[in-house]
Amino acid sequence: KVLSAFPVTDDKNNTIGKGYLWRDITKEQEVDRLKSDLISLVSHEFKTPITSIKGSVETLLRHDTHWDEEFKRELLTGIHEDIERIKELVNDWLDLSRIDAKAIGLKREPLRPSIVVDSAIRKLPKHFGNGVIIESTVNENLPLIFGDRVRLEQVVANLLTNAIRYNDRTPHIKITADIDEKYVHIAVEDNGIGISAEHLDKVFDRFYCVDAGWVRRTGGTGLGLAICKGIIEAHGGSIRAESIEGNGSVFTVSIPRYKYVGDKYEKI
Ligand code: ADP
Repeated sequence: KVLSAFPVTDDKNNTIGKGYLWRDITKEQEVDRLKSDLISLVSHEFKTPITSIKGSVETLLRHDTHWDEEFKRELLTGIHEDIERIKELVNDWLDLSRIDAKAIGLKREPLRPSIVVDSAIRKLPKHFGNGVIIESTVNENLPLIFGDRVRLEQVVANLLTNAIRYNDRTPHIKITADIDEKYVHIAVEDNGIGISAEHLDKVFDRFYCVDAGWVRRTGGTGLGLAICKGIIEAHGGSIRAESIEGNGSVFTVSIPRYKYVGDKYEKI
């Protein structure tokens, strides 16, 4: 909230005193932030795929040249990938806007952590395939969490995608769970490139990437972890990262446990 002062004038416009106005500008600041996020998204992220689509389409439209089928297919595949990228950016952007507006609309229900983890693994793109190992010791007997199944799966799938993406060896990922009185902690540990201490607390920031070249090659948006954080915090939980550079990272999400009291679920 801010206080602004303004002159009080009579009907002849002479200043006869001072007025004060209290305004809550959190909403305005929020809108400003959304706008500037959108601008950086459009100017940095959309430009590349749009320019490349334009180039390919112009090539395909050139009547005077005869392109062979294989070359045409190559261009069309490229266009398809660029469109997928734009779609991914728009979806991430929408998720973040909903999180900011506190309008993410969680559909919470009692969930088994093991079901969330198993469905997230099954959601991973098949092209990751080759040699990737994911080991989960998240078992069916863990206490229930109270969360939005789709959103929590999205978080775990995102952590797994990063664990595979930021890796220069054959990815070997371990998913474990731990509990305390209030939370179920799910940890995703990888054997990837790791994150140095100076970058570690910034990886949850929007558009933050440690190595822009790597991200471009592997197709990240720099928004994934910011979205994960938003989703987990909307659940009343938290997310953190630990890492040793060159030796892998561990991302842990803590999701509040819920217990059944009478006929409704209650936060412990
Ligand atoms: P991106 O779309 O770039 O992957 P994220 O928000 O998911 O965006 O991650 C932000 C940055 O954090 C990444 O660009 C990468 O540098 C770093 N990072 C995320 N997960 C890992 C990981 N498991 N191992 C190493 N670095 C990671």
